[in-house]
Amino acid sequence: MKSIQVKEPGGPEKMQLVDVPVPVPGRKQALVRLAAAGVNFIDVYFRSGLYKADLPVTLGNEGAGTVEAVGPDAAEVAPGDRVAWAMARGSYAEFALVPAAQLVKIPDRLDFATAAAAMLQGMTAHYLTHSTYPLKSGEACLVHAAAGGAGGLIAQMAKMRGARVFGTVSTEEKARIARQHGVDEAILYTAVDFAAEVKRLTGGAGVDVVYDSVGQTTFEKSLNCLRPRGLLVLFGQSSGPVPPFDPSILNAKGSLFLTRPGLGHYLLTREELLWRAGDVLGWVDSGRLQLRIERTYPLADAASAHRDLEGRKTAGKLLLTIP
Ligand code: NDP
Repeated sequence: MKSIQVKEPGGPEKMQLVDVPVPVPGRKQALVRLAAAGVNFIDVYFRSGLYKADLPVTLGNEGAGTVEAVGPDAAEVAPGDRVAWAMARGSYAEFALVPAAQLVKIPDRLDFATAAAAMLQGMTAHYLTHSTYPLKSGEACLVHAAAGGAGGLIAQMAKMRGARVFGTVSTEEKARIARQHGVDEAILYTAVDFAAEVKRLTGGAGVDVVYDSVGQTTFEKSLNCLRPRGLLVLFGQSSGPVPPFDPSILNAKGSLFLTRPGLGHYLLTREELLWRAGDVLGWVDSGRLQLRIERTYPLADAASAHRDLEGRKTAGKLLLTIP
């Protein structure tokens, strides 16, 4: 089978299309024949070495396809099931081994591409808006990169919960897209001081929560956007990692809270996975949640997808079609 592997960390040029044997499922695993794989920033981190993996590593943490075979203790799915998953590595490939307990069945009307596009960023937006900070009607939040894959879905779910949503973007075109996701005020953080703008728009009060996926270039000012005892949710670092931080700053800026969550810790049980994936796929199926698929690439051209994502050129989901 064909797969995209990295033998040593580095740039997109380190991604190689290789031929490897189709693997055999272990006791609790399923072998899935992939139809589509989602491209996420986490794949960039495993490629570059910011996140560590045993090498060679097959990239990709999200996919959809058909169960081909299961191990003897993989009771959750059966051969022939249409399934999708997130947070099990190896989806940039024709086949992947996935723990059966991480697979969810795809609603009949959803195609594979849509399901693959929804899982990782959709469940991320779900846990951030429903669990990390369960937004309430009338509260206000700031979402960075609000035209991005995760950001666009966070904005939509924040609106579903009745919040006022501020969103940062780098261009006018992305501001237009962010507004389509429901952002009430799109702020060009490449042109204006976004913290001053948030304070102005909230009459000096600040927002209840900031969802920050950008990291290095936004972190400090994100703290300045919060009301006293507000929460900064640093969940990514698309501009680079945040340097070491003195916790007494949280006191100085208003007894603030800071968390650095990851999706895996919000999918601790099968029930939690089925809740989040069920909501996300159900909302996509009913049209309540809009997925914006920016571009689809052939598996062999996965490196171009990474270049576009890292180059800040995209607004929405990138997918690989397989084969
Ligand atoms: P996005 O679609 O959000 O793409 C990244 C966006 O970040 C860009 O389009 C750009 O938007 C913005 N950005 C700002 N500065 C830079 C920069 N210097 N270089 C590149 N992009 C920049 O990607 P994802 O939704 O896939 O992921 C976003 C972040 O969230 C990643 O760090 C990812 O790892 C993290 N994440 C974390 C999860 C978790 O559970 N902790 C789960 C999912 C994602 P603009 O042009 O508008 O500035």
